[in-house]
Amino acid sequence: MIIDKARLYLLRMNLQHPFRTSFGETKDRDMLFVCLEAGGIKGWGECVSEAGPWYSGETTNSCIHIISEYLVPWIKNKEILHPKEFKEMCMSIKGNQMAKACVEDAIWDLFGRIEGKTLQSLIGGTKEKIASGISLGIQQNKDILLQKIQTAVEKKYQRVKIKIEHGWDVGIIKEIRDHFPDLPLMVDANSAYRLKDKDIFVNLDRYDLLMIEQPLQYYDIIDHASLQKEISTPICLDESIKSVDDARVAIEIDATRIINVKPARVGGISETLLIHNLAKEVKIPLWCGGMLETGIGRAKNVSVASLSTFTLANDISESARYYSDYVIEPIFELNADGTLTVPTKSAGIGVEVLEDQINRNSIKKMEI
Ligand SMILES: [Mg+2]
Repeated sequence: MIIDKARLYLLRMNLQHPFRTSFGETKDRDMLFVCLEAGGIKGWGECVSEAGPWYSGETTNSCIHIISEYLVPWIKNKEILHPKEFKEMCMSIKGNQMAKACVEDAIWDLFGRIEGKTLQSLIGGTKEKIASGISLGIQQNKDILLQKIQTAVEKKYQRVKIKIEHGWDVGIIKEIRDHFPDLPLMVDANSAYRLKDKDIFVNLDRYDLLMIEQPLQYYDIIDHASLQKEISTPICLDESIKSVDDARVAIEIDATRIINVKPARVGGISETLLIHNLAKEVKIPLWCGGMLETGIGRAKNVSVASLSTFTLANDISESARYYSDYVIEPIFELNADGTLTVPTKSAGIGVEVLEDQINRNSIKKMEI
């Protein structure tokens, strides 16, 4: 295929509820979409970067710059036989994983639509339904959190993840366990602690948590290995794993026993497939994390989570949890058994993209 047209769209999406983690609160979200066209057929990618450099060093503006000045010009009007070629084509561009993933996603979607194949079938996903877990941000008080957990349990989410930070950790987990002794429960610190805080995690060890996600620095691997020696609850790295090479190092020194894979954090679907192959080889379980995606990114994540190594519940919830405006059809709804069905309504990411809706809600559009 030859990509002959490319467009960027920036949308401001209001979140249904503010989402708070250890590094701040998100009330609305500027979402960047890229649309690539080849002979009139369109493929879509969604960029998960935030307005500021809070989760990673990338921002919405840095992604607009990298996508429009480098990534798209480097691939436009060139023959591409398979989406996996993108990584090679852009190898000289260092870092910028989220910008790369957005463009690569659009190439996979476009390729699938041209070939008449779903993304799931292109990458070898095997499951029809994926397990859905819920991630609950830091709340104003424990009663609000306990009520939200109760609602999640009633909706049959398969596990609950609680964001923690200093002052909202051991005490709140004890409260949750008093009320929900058998709840499949995990915590995510988003790098809020240091190795000197290890006693907090030693204390958390008694609450039968499924895992502790990214307790230490966002770039660290070695301190996580030291912490893992002190506790029996598995550590799961998120922010620290930016490539299959990071994953290999972290597994080798026992810094991570589970990996939260966000395709956008590692530079795209091709790198995700390398981590999937590694996980299969060393028998490490994976699950797919979320970045408050709208429907386009969500559809991609559900397809990725259908790979055989993604055996744990994913941070992929139903569409209505985050947004009331939808950019795809059909939207994702939670099944009665706490799963989401892998979309196969159309080729590519499996859902129709509502281009009119994207056009109407855009605050910025750019031809590249
Ligand atoms: Mg995380």
